[in-house]
Amino acid sequence: MKKLFLFVIAAAAAAVAQQAQDPDFAKSVKEWTTRPEFLSPLTDHLPKANGIPSPKDVLGYYIGTPKKLTHTADLYRYYRALESSTKRVKVIPIGRTDEGREQLIVVIADEDTIRNLDTYKGYLAKLADPRGVTPDQAKQIVGQAKLVYMFSGGLHSAETGPPEMLMELAYRLVAEDGPLFDQIRKNMIVMIAPAFEPDGRDRYVDWYYRHKINEETEADRVPGPPYWGKYIYHDNNRDINYSQVTMRNWLKFYLDWHPPIMHDLHESVPFMYTFSGQAPQNPTLDPILYAELPWLANFEMTKMFGYGMPGVWDHGYVDMWSPGYLGFMSSNHNGILRMYETFGNGGANTMRRKVAPEPGSGPGAGENQTTREWYRPLPPYKEVVWSMRNNTNYMETGVLSALEVASANAKTLLQNFYEKSRNSIQSGTNDAPFGYVLPAGQPDMTRVAFIVNILRLQGIEIGRATSEVKLKDGTYPAGSLIVKRNQPYGRLAKILLEKQVYPDQNLRTYDDAAWTMGLMSHADVKEISDKAILDAPVTPVDTLTIPGGIQGDGQLLAVLHNGANSLVTLRYRLKDVKFEAVEQSFKSGDTEIPAGSFLIPASARARTEIENLGLKAVALTGAPNVPRHDVDLPRLAMFSTWGSTQDVGWVRYAFDHFELKYDLIYKEQIRKGNLRASYDVIVIPNQGRSAKSLVFDLESKGTPIDYTKSSDFPTLGAYGESSDITGGMGLEGVVELDKFVKAGGVLITLGVASFLPADYGLTPTIDAQRTSGQFYAPGPIIEAEITHPTNPIFYGYTSKTIPVRYANGPLLRVPLDDRKKEVLMRFPGTDKSVLSGLMRGVAETRDRPAIVDVPSGRGRVLMFATNPCYRWQNLGEFNMLANAILNYNDVPKSSPTSTAE
Ligand SMILES: [Zn+2]
Repeated sequence: MKKLFLFVIAAAAAAVAQQAQDPDFAKSVKEWTTRPEFLSPLTDHLPKANGIPSPKDVLGYYIGTPKKLTHTADLYRYYRALESSTKRVKVIPIGRTDEGREQLIVVIADEDTIRNLDTYKGYLAKLADPRGVTPDQAKQIVGQAKLVYMFSGGLHSAETGPPEMLMELAYRLVAEDGPLFDQIRKNMIVMIAPAFEPDGRDRYVDWYYRHKINEETEADRVPGPPYWGKYIYHDNNRDINYSQVTMRNWLKFYLDWHPPIMHDLHESVPFMYTFSGQAPQNPTLDPILYAELPWLANFEMTKMFGYGMPGVWDHGYVDMWSPGYLGFMSSNHNGILRMYETFGNGGANTMRRKVAPEPGSGPGAGENQTTREWYRPLPPYKEVVWSMRNNTNYMETGVLSALEVASANAKTLLQNFYEKSRNSIQSGTNDAPFGYVLPAGQPDMTRVAFIVNILRLQGIEIGRATSEVKLKDGTYPAGSLIVKRNQPYGRLAKILLEKQVYPDQNLRTYDDAAWTMGLMSHADVKEISDKAILDAPVTPVDTLTIPGGIQGDGQLLAVLHNGANSLVTLRYRLKDVKFEAVEQSFKSGDTEIPAGSFLIPASARARTEIENLGLKAVALTGAPNVPRHDVDLPRLAMFSTWGSTQDVGWVRYAFDHFELKYDLIYKEQIRKGNLRASYDVIVIPNQGRSAKSLVFDLESKGTPIDYTKSSDFPTLGAYGESSDITGGMGLEGVVELDKFVKAGGVLITLGVASFLPADYGLTPTIDAQRTSGQFYAPGPIIEAEITHPTNPIFYGYTSKTIPVRYANGPLLRVPLDDRKKEVLMRFPGTDKSVLSGLMRGVAETRDRPAIVDVPSGRGRVLMFATNPCYRWQNLGEFNMLANAILNYNDVPKSSPTSTAE
């Protein structure tokens, strides 16, 4: 009897230690993993758990099965099956994407925690905003709170592995026994965003099954689909102003839940890079963050080297300068952004990959990722056969190691979250600048509202001054918008509004060097060094709307051109109404009506739209005695290559937002010719790297690559269809563009696209050159000087010198004789011209044209070396493009076209 009892106990102990396993999983994973060292003891097995479905039970295949990728509907189906099988999971819908797909968060913790989620949410909210919480109370809250650690996968759709891996991770976190898993479930709440960009996920999976599933070697690889999400590709990770609906929903979720750690899973470099926050670092963020990042990354390296996994490294890749990456919503709000890059094949096929750069290839081509460095003591191999399962093993071993260190130190991480939030408030209380003022009474308040509403979206508190504010820095009228820095997100306000002072000219940065919102928007933002701003009486602003206004009565309305971007919207909303623009300013009573202002017949509808769009108008009894012209709406097209749609996407977004009507055209429409019969204006946004890439685009390898909708692949063919996306417009396309211009069309080229007219002879007198190898300008904000202030392009601009974002467009050269009439704006190119961020070699831009207007036949080519429509940021420049479109047939009399006619 006693003996039997002991046996029963022993058996029970064995059952705990030896959870039933899925032998097929272990066998398959071993087979799909291409070398033994690419597998770890964390991922070489999968337990079975009664009643809890594994990914295979729902999907029919294991994670990492060659040639299997999962659509979002099936990802969600799996997570919901998991949810209904256990009390350890909760699925929370958080919104809908640009294309209407569901966005989900999956929450995993022990049963007790899941039952009390709202309580834990409340604790985090207190740590995120500790005003009114004493340090002792904070300690108590930390004692009761649970650390939320959030993972996201699939922000970049070609990086296909993370959404697959996360399902297996979720299953393990729910079903696996053992001290590590008990500790994670007990000490933390794990959250998973199964697909960070659901629209792109589905389009890419469709594309994979249609075009990429038979790839066997690197040489077979087919380019990716023309689109991921609705507008932008990788730049969904650069959407600093949260223009995209999908990204805005994640931010709303973040500010609702305050996960102290967000961990975004990407794929690019081998075998696994774990972000450690290298220089240049934004000095405004908390030093605690810069200690946490390498701590966590080094723990993962330690564990993975211990498992014998080579090729894990940190440092030497992405820095901490730009705050515009999506996951930075966490570090920007006193949390921690974490990130991996693992090695992916752009699908789920196993193939041999060359990892080391080809001899003689320049920087960028695999840049030394296989060399031994102090931060890469066990580098990736120079060549490797790589599989989706390898990729899964690396990511999953990494994130389980991350959860190990985080769950063991959950209280430290929570305490740090509190300290960082408190430090942010204290920094704004003790250190200048103490705040920012956006003065009331600026000519165009809609761009002020743009800034205010983005800051509000980011959770930053803003007040409206209830009376005049007198500070050492100046006196500001009642109604001015006040940002006080002594608030939890006061540091973020500073980061977004201050001038970026780049710390070291010798350091490169992964993305933009500058983003100063006031300069980008051409709105007045005052930095305040007087602590008295903290006591300025204000009423809180939720969302700032600018009501329009009409002075006086009369049959004619003069709508002031004050640079508001909604002026073009008004023109399109009242498309059937006759609009005139005045070519000179004049006075009506005390009101100055600037050049470019619209004259429209007064009507109830016009009044309503002017009000809604935040515009200002003066009613006149009769037409003023100044020269004016009709503001006709052109038949407008926007050209996109198939291979480089992203920067076009930003222009599409802006045009859609401001309600411009246009056709999106591709090589198919260009080659068909007779463009002048259909269009008055064709815009070629910045895209590709050169004129050649614009003309020849994706290389044709003989087999057509179609992008068309079908019942099997319903997401393809969105935003344009093609039976073969390769080949580009070709030289015949260039000829058609030239014919279009000569027949009276206006061709507008932006940024890099301005190489095209120069290099391919549409503007034979203009040269387009490149900067030297020493030149380096990662998106600084610099000065540009307007040389033809009366040209309609500059309606609404009142200063001779304006801030523009440098776009690395061509260095244009115009013959001396034509310079005076054709160069409309130029770069002064002195050291003081760099207003924010970094430009190394500024002298190379000295006196180079920024905008050139070149007559050709009966038409014109308008070349911007700048990009007036960049990532929904430089809204102060957008009006130059809008003006160019609205006044396309109204070139001033002094300009060359009128004499050429
Ligand atoms: Zn990525």
